[in-house]
Amino acid sequence: MGVTNDPRSHGLWAQSACDAPVTGCLTQDTTADVAIIGAGYTGLSAALHLAGAGRKVVVLEGQEIGYGGSGRNVGLVNAGLWLMPSDVMRTLGQTYGERVLSLLGQGPEVVFSLVRKYGIMCEAEPTGTLHCAPDHAGVRNLQQREKEWQQLGAPVTLLGEGETRRLTGSNAYRAALLDARAGTIQPLSYARGLAAAAMAEGAEIHTASPVSSVYREDGGWLVRTPRGSVKAQWVIVATNTYTDSLWPEIREEQIHLPYFNIATRPLPPACLNLILPKKQGVWDTREVLTSFRLDQAGRLVVGSVGSLGMIERNIHRQWAHRALTRIYPMLRDITFESEWYGRIGMTVDSVPRYHRLDEQVLSISGFNGRGISPGTMFGQILARRICGELTDADMPLPLTNIRQPPLRIARENIYRFGSTAVHAVFDRL
Ligand SMILES: Cc1cc2nc3c(=O)[nH]c(=O)nc-3n(C[C@H](O)[C@H](O)[C@H](O)COP(=O)(O)OP(=O)(O)OC[C@H]3O[C@@H](n4cnc5c(N)ncnc54)[C@H](O)[C@@H]3O)c2cc1C
Repeated sequence: MGVTNDPRSHGLWAQSACDAPVTGCLTQDTTADVAIIGAGYTGLSAALHLAGAGRKVVVLEGQEIGYGGSGRNVGLVNAGLWLMPSDVMRTLGQTYGERVLSLLGQGPEVVFSLVRKYGIMCEAEPTGTLHCAPDHAGVRNLQQREKEWQQLGAPVTLLGEGETRRLTGSNAYRAALLDARAGTIQPLSYARGLAAAAMAEGAEIHTASPVSSVYREDGGWLVRTPRGSVKAQWVIVATNTYTDSLWPEIREEQIHLPYFNIATRPLPPACLNLILPKKQGVWDTREVLTSFRLDQAGRLVVGSVGSLGMIERNIHRQWAHRALTRIYPMLRDITFESEWYGRIGMTVDSVPRYHRLDEQVLSISGFNGRGISPGTMFGQILARRICGELTDADMPLPLTNIRQPPLRIARENIYRFGSTAVHAVFDRL
């Protein structure tokens, strides 16, 4: 099972994941072409692609594979960012905007092809996602998204009320945007499978090996952990939203948004014929959004913004029950089996960041709740940058300095307590 710290850290995913490859703590001083800090999708994808290109790679993970967002998320394999394509272009400008949209548009295809290539057992369902609108404002939002994605040639279709009802099994939505590129996975299994694939390509992965310092030494970098070290020419810092004190600026650049998931027991077959018969993953257009999806055993996983800390746990649980009853009245008496939560790293403008933290020390972070495809793609891009296939000028994101967002702590409190206030009253009125 693994990921042993807290039953609310990885919940269902820890219970149903495939086994992790056998790894251990770094206990010696070693050398590598590239040291990678963090074993989530970004670090593991970079490791896989670097090792595949013949580089000697050592991955150092402070906890376990998939301990961060990669083992806790909803498992929606999305194409693109959270933003509408026109907002991406406006924020990044035409050159970078086009590069990012094109790169991340291919993200799900790359994820699902890695799953096939390496035989990763991660409940992959490449059957699309449904972005659902419960009201007219939501429908207008989806109409605009459809128009913008179709202009880019993406297979994205706005479905009317009847088709939405058939694919969700719910009367709660007026329309849905079906993105045929996307799908779902078991997120922790995907992380473990990527790790196994990277190891099969020759990468070394050490868990329970928190990096405590990165120092310049003899023209390279000395990356230290409590019981061993790696001397490397390049370092990738792939710690993202779960960054600890090693590079606190990366954490401080992001506004943390808590997000929880609650899973039902497996639904009876009669319900499974009606609810998400094609197993698409769903989220809605509300400000405090709701997401839901099935796992392979037929459990419904429902999620929203909020933490499952002591203060607010019960409010979110009760909301989840009311929300499910509203969406699927037939689930009125359903019981929940597990719950977990994590933190999503938002940036002020909702686009990820590419940083050169020092010479030959690279990092891409801040995926704004869209990290399965982006982590996989940006990991691959970092590998290509280090292999010399890309220069900084060719990268899909501009190289920027770390900048802290204004009022970060206030915004984090608004996410946490605002979502609690919304869930306390929502569906009661
Ligand atoms: C609840 C939730 C729901 C989400 N839903 C979705 C979704 O449906 N679809 C989607 O695409 N994205 C989703 N996301 C976002 C996605 O999970 C993340 O963007 C993605 O996992 C980030 O991957 P990563 O490899 O960059 O970072 P992480 O997976 O966070 O990995 C960072 C790793 O670095 C390690 N680390 C930190 N400091 C050190 C150190 N000093 N030494 C060694 N190791 C260190 C951590 O232990 C961690 O394992 C969600 C996130 C959350 C939390």
